[in-house]
Amino acid sequence: FSDIFRKIKYACEKKWKSDKNNGEKKKENVVVLGSGWGGIHFMLNIDFEKYNVTLVSPRNYFTFTPLLPCLCSGTLSVKSCKENVKNFLKKNNCTSNYLQYECTDIMYNDKYIICKDKNDKQVKIFYDYLVIAVGAKSNSFNIKGVDKYAFFVKDIEDALKIRNKFLQNLEKCKIKNYSEEKKKNLLHIVVVGGGPTGVEVAGEFADFVNKEIKNKYKNIYPYISISIIESGNKLLPTFTENISNFTKNNFNILNINVYTNYCVTEIDEYYFFIQSSLNQNEKKKKIPYGLIIWASGIKQTILINNFLKKIPEQVHNNILNVNSHLNVIGLNTFNIFAIGDCKIIKPLQLHKYTYEIINFLNTNNLNSNCLKLKSKELCKIFPQVSENKWDYFNNKKDNMNEIEFENYLHKIDLNYKTPSPTAQNAKQEAYYLSYIFNNYLQNKNNVLIPSFLDTWKGSLAYIGNHQVVAHLPFCEIKGGLFSFTFWRIVYIQLLLTWKSRLHFLLDTFRTRFYGRPVPK
Ligand code: FAD
Ligand code: MG
Ligand code: MG
Ligand code: MG
Ligand code: MG
Repeated sequence: FSDIFRKIKYACEKKWKSDKNNGEKKKENVVVLGSGWGGIHFMLNIDFEKYNVTLVSPRNYFTFTPLLPCLCSGTLSVKSCKENVKNFLKKNNCTSNYLQYECTDIMYNDKYIICKDKNDKQVKIFYDYLVIAVGAKSNSFNIKGVDKYAFFVKDIEDALKIRNKFLQNLEKCKIKNYSEEKKKNLLHIVVVGGGPTGVEVAGEFADFVNKEIKNKYKNIYPYISISIIESGNKLLPTFTENISNFTKNNFNILNINVYTNYCVTEIDEYYFFIQSSLNQNEKKKKIPYGLIIWASGIKQTILINNFLKKIPEQVHNNILNVNSHLNVIGLNTFNIFAIGDCKIIKPLQLHKYTYEIINFLNTNNLNSNCLKLKSKELCKIFPQVSENKWDYFNNKKDNMNEIEFENYLHKIDLNYKTPSPTAQNAKQEAYYLSYIFNNYLQNKNNVLIPSFLDTWKGSLAYIGNHQVVAHLPFCEIKGGLFSFTFWRIVYIQLLLTWKSRLHFLLDTFRTRFYGRPVPK
C-alpha cells in the first residue's frame, strides 16, 4: 500500500504499537465497560485465547431493548428480553471475568479505571485496552416535571414500572367511586416522542386496551384514551413519508390521538402542557393525564461527561469523539476505544489531505471517477469516500483543478454522518472492533487497519393491530398480514440465545391464545 498513506496514518495516529514491541508474549488485559448492545456483542466475538477480557458493568444482564415496548403491555415477558451476562463469559474452554462494578473515572495516563461496587467501595482496575460501551441515558431536556412525573423507557425496570402504573390506575378506577372525569384523566395514557420507541409503546398499549382491557374491564374501557405527542411534523420521521402516513392512519383507526408539531413544555402532577412548535404565539394547551411516558432523546452519562473534561482536545464536546477506528481522539495513548451510544465518529478530513490524495490518485485528470476507483483503498483511512457513503453517480465531476478537487473533497467530508445511536450500529461497531482486536492489534507488521463503516440494514416498527412498518434498503413494508410474521422472524434471529428465542415464542403463543396478563 502506498507510502503516502503510511505517512498520513502515522502522522495522525502515531499507532498503538510503541508499548507492544517489547517482545513479551504476555496476554494483554482488555476491560470492557457496559453489558449492553455494544459490550455484549464485543464479548461474543473477542478471542478469549488472545486476551484476558474483563467485563465491568453495574447491570449483570443484557437488555434486548427493541422488545421493551412489548413489556409495557405484557405482550412479552421479561425472560424474552433479558440475558444474564454469565452466558457470554465462556467460549471454547476459555473464560473471561465479570465484575459488577460501575466505572466512575478513567485514568488514561496510568492505564487504570476507578470503579465502585454495590456498597460504594472504590476499586482500581488496570487495563492494556479499554473498550467504553456505557451507552447513554434518557434526556428530559431540562423540561420542568419530566424527571419527576414522566416514565422513561430505557430498561426492563422502566417498562415494568410503566405497566404497573397503568394497572394501578385501572384498579383505582374499578374500586373507587371516581367521577367520570377523574376516570378519564387517570386513564389517559400519553406517549411523548413519535420515533420508533414512542410509536411502538402507543401501539402496544392500544392492543392491550382493545383486547384484554376491553374484555375484562368492560365498564372502564370507555374511559381509556391514548395520545402521542411529536414535536416534528410526522410520526416515525426517520422512515419514509408513506410509512409516516400509514402509521398515522393506523393510529386513527386505533383511536390514538396524534399531536404532531407539538412540544411538551411542562408536566405537573395531573396535567401536562403542550405548545405548537410552528406557532409560538398559540396558547399553551393544558391536558390531564394518568400516565405519561417519555420516549424522546438521549444524553451522556456522568462517566462520559467527566472523561470529556479530562481530555484537552475534547473539553468542549458533549459526546465522546472517536476516529474512524473507534479510537478516542485526543489522547496520546492509543488504547481506549468507544462504541455505541456514548460516542460519535469524526473521521480525518479528506480535504486536509488534498495534496497526498492527488499524489495517490496519480492522474493528470482529476475527476470523481478516479476517486471512486480508489475509494476501496482510501476508505481504510477515510470512511466518507466509500461508495455506500458518497453517491458518486449523482455527484459526477470531471476535469477539476486542485482547488476544485479540494472543494469536492470538502463536500464529501461534510456529507459524512456518524452512525445513529441504535442497537444495530452498536452491534456492528462491536463486531468491527473485536475483529480488529483479533486480527490486527497484535500484528507487529505495519498493516493498515480498515476504518469502521456502518451498513444500514433497515428499520422496523410495530404500530399496533398486528401491523408492522419497515423501511428496508430495497423496499418498504406498510402493514399487511405478512408484516407481523416478518417482524417476528427478524427478532427471533436477532435474539442472542436459544433460551430467549424459546421464551419469545412461548410468550407469542400465550398472547395469541390466552391474551396478555391482567390482574384478576
Ligand atoms: P446500552 O445497550 O445502553 O448499554 C450500556 C451498558 O453500560 C449497560 O449495561 C449499563 O448498565 C452499562 N453502564 C452504564 N454506565 C456504566 C458505567 N459507568 N460503568 C460500567 N458500565 C456502565 N435500536 C435499534 O437499532 N433498533 C430498535 O428497535 C431499538 N429499539 C429501542 C427501544 C428502546 C425502548 C430503547 C431504549 C432503545 C432502542 N434502541 C433500538 C436503541 C438501542 O437500544 C441503543 O442504541 C443501544 O442499546 C446502544 O448500545 P450501547 O452498548 O451503547 O448501550
Ligand atoms: Mg454496551
Ligand atoms: Mg442493551
Ligand atoms: Mg424498536
Ligand atoms: Mg456505548
